[in-house]
Amino acid sequence: MDLYHHHRFKQAQSQVNRVAGEQAFARAAQRDDINALHDRLDRLTMLCEAMWMLLKDETGYTEEDLEARLYDLDMSDGSRDQRKRTVPQRCGCGAMVHPRSTRCVFCGDEAPERPAFDAV
Ligand SMILES: [Zn+2]
Repeated sequence: MDLYHHHRFKQAQSQVNRVAGEQAFARAAQRDDINALHDRLDRLTMLCEAMWMLLKDETGYTEEDLEARLYDLDMSDGSRDQRKRTVPQRCGCGAMVHPRSTRCVFCGDEAPERPAFDAV
């Protein structure tokens, strides 16, 4: 290998190493983000369970009441899929407003009022 090609080979090898380092850094950052999300999910799950236990103890609601309410929420978007999807709502002008929009893109009015959980 002549000197020029040896130099070009070293440059390419250096670039490959730099990109590999960047990718390893990005993967580590993604793992950190996922771990942080798992921690938040665990905490939220515990908070929901604690609130449910308080509610059950204070009101006498039963597990069956909770299951019935979960079923109603699940079916509120028309399909039983263990999810509650927010759906667009109709603005006064007749246009449909995206669930996360604060204003109608057609007339500029404020978006129709929504339940607080729709913004989550
Ligand atoms: Zn509108």
